[in-house]
Amino acid sequence: MTVLDTTVLDMTVLESSVRNKFDVLVVGGGHAGCEAAAAAARLGAETGLVSLQLERIGVLSCNPALGGLGKGHLVREIDALDGLMGQVGDQAGIQYRLLNASKGPAVQGPRTQADRRLYRLAMQQTLAAYPHLHLVEGAVGDLIISQAGNIQGLQLEDGRTLWAPQVVITTGTFLRGLIHLGPETWPAGRWGEKPANLLSQRFEALGFALRRLKTGTPPRLHSDSIAWDRVELQQADAVPTPLSFLSERITVPQVACGVTYTNPASHKVIADNIKLSAVYSGQINGIGPRYCPAIEDKVVRFADKTRHQIFLEPEGLDDPTVYPNGISTSLPAAVQQALLATIPGLETAQMLQPGYAIEYDCLDPRELWPTLEARRQRGLYLAGQINGTTGYEEAAAQGLIAGTNAALAAGGSDRPFTLDRSQAYMGVMVDDLTTQGTDEPYRMFTSRAEFRLQLRADNADQRLTDLGLDLGLVKAERAAAWGDKRAALTAAKTAWTQYSQTPNQWAAQGFGVKLDGVRRTALDMLAMPGVDYAALVATHRDLAVARSDVRRDLEIQALYAGYLDRQQADVAAFKKDEALKIDPDLDYCTLPELSNEMRERLSRARPVTLGAASRLPGVTPAALVALLRHVKKSPFAADQRVGNDAF
Ligand code: FAD
Repeated sequence: MTVLDTTVLDMTVLESSVRNKFDVLVVGGGHAGCEAAAAAARLGAETGLVSLQLERIGVLSCNPALGGLGKGHLVREIDALDGLMGQVGDQAGIQYRLLNASKGPAVQGPRTQADRRLYRLAMQQTLAAYPHLHLVEGAVGDLIISQAGNIQGLQLEDGRTLWAPQVVITTGTFLRGLIHLGPETWPAGRWGEKPANLLSQRFEALGFALRRLKTGTPPRLHSDSIAWDRVELQQADAVPTPLSFLSERITVPQVACGVTYTNPASHKVIADNIKLSAVYSGQINGIGPRYCPAIEDKVVRFADKTRHQIFLEPEGLDDPTVYPNGISTSLPAAVQQALLATIPGLETAQMLQPGYAIEYDCLDPRELWPTLEARRQRGLYLAGQINGTTGYEEAAAQGLIAGTNAALAAGGSDRPFTLDRSQAYMGVMVDDLTTQGTDEPYRMFTSRAEFRLQLRADNADQRLTDLGLDLGLVKAERAAAWGDKRAALTAAKTAWTQYSQTPNQWAAQGFGVKLDGVRRTALDMLAMPGVDYAALVATHRDLAVARSDVRRDLEIQALYAGYLDRQQADVAAFKKDEALKIDPDLDYCTLPELSNEMRERLSRARPVTLGAASRLPGVTPAALVALLRHVKKSPFAADQRVGNDAF
């Protein structure tokens, strides 16, 4: 992995491209846009990434952290497909912590706080050096669509025209963005950046129903004004767990963060001023993230709680800014200052920027195929916050899927790239979004996945890298690294499943085993309580495994032995329904057993498999039986279709 050279960080790496014809155009240099553009370019598509300010590419708009529970799984999956977030994150990670380390590996999530500046610059350096990728600074005002209804390119607000048959839009919180700070409001895409209003009008003209969502961010504090001796300190893990499979070790210095709490006095400041909060004054119509609420929301909704935790996260190694994670707010700045004065350690904290809320337009993700192509506009793909999600990792994962499919379509491929719920958290998210939709900002949790034991952060490469290699998404460095690991995994699995002994032989070596006459392999023994890797290798040297990641994989296989087999049976049943493809153009009125309501629901949703139909809200078991009969009678072979309709 290349390590960021901080001595040559300057904006001259980001020269704007003069080219105007592309295979794929990506709008937006946020997390979705960076992954979309990089994925399309990896597939060899000449790709243009158009963003408002090139020097703002890769900005972490809110918290300076990557990964976590569910989100860490997404980062590893992006990485397994040779995406950027993990590798770039490992050049900027300043406090690694493996979340849920005391729980099972399935729900452990790698996370790091990130130095904002290092992350942004590493992302920019990576993109600037990417083959087939061209950076264009500009504000996109419109889509160019031919009379026949085909996407042809983009119209920039300054009059320039860019041409491409496939366009990915990833404009985040910028569509008709409106900032709220107490009673004040002003149009903005983020603090200090103008919104994108024209694209919203184009989406409406195309017939998309736009909705308003909102999110918020806390004030930023000056580190020197915090009484660090009055807060608890939380250190990084002694041994960092990198985000990327390619990172052998982390060389960025690690820092501690602080932990403090609100108290009844803080809650009183909020309660006394609640009418001044944009969230409670009725000024905001958009729905906010349930799992990342504003502090005023927490105080109102959980009135019995006497304190709420706040993590004081440094924003960088050479940056005095501190992000107080847990007190996102849209109260007026003076009230925010009064609130800080009640919190231990923050009594005299200096606010560098007040917290605020932002409302923005987004689209209903049920308007999308699982490729993230819009159902109503061929050649138009949408990814990220614009689809109703929240979070960098969710955005990046969608970007990778959309960019890959846009490039495949541009190359004339009739095999789109989709992942199902048994393969990846990415598949879970896209399925949730495209079948269920979302009426509040959607974020990933491990609880959203039904096949959690096999969808682990540690095995994302085993699940996905070969798929990426088949597609051409994985570059040489990762191909070689994965090839070595795959060979080591196979060799270890073979050794540990082929070596077996009778109970008497195991007992003779000091292992407490039931004398039932059943031969047990070394892997069976590893699954037994009280038996560990070292004890088995001590008696059988040829079981020794050099690589620690492969050793860990064996231990996890042993830990979940039996459960994983049972889950495989569930996956097989799930796959059966997913294999039953439904023609996206099926006329549901021709199915006599369906009620009018079911016809209407199914026609609106157009599920692409029987499994997807079964997950639609309100679709009855009787309707599914009727659909199953139809699908079995007239099977629809997905690959008989061309273009991006083929699932
Ligand atoms: P963004 O990262 O927003 O990137 C959008 C990109 O599009 C930008 O580069 C912009 O310049 C570009 N762009 C926009 N319009 C145009 C145009 N017309 N032409 C060219 N370029 C354009 N996430 C959480 O998980 N938890 C939180 O608590 C949280 N709070 C947030 C608070 C605030 C105030 C904000 C702004 C965001 C918050 N987020 C939070 C969300 C997180 O920042 C986003 O989920 C994530 O950045 C979305 O990534 P994206 O790629 O979809 O969009």
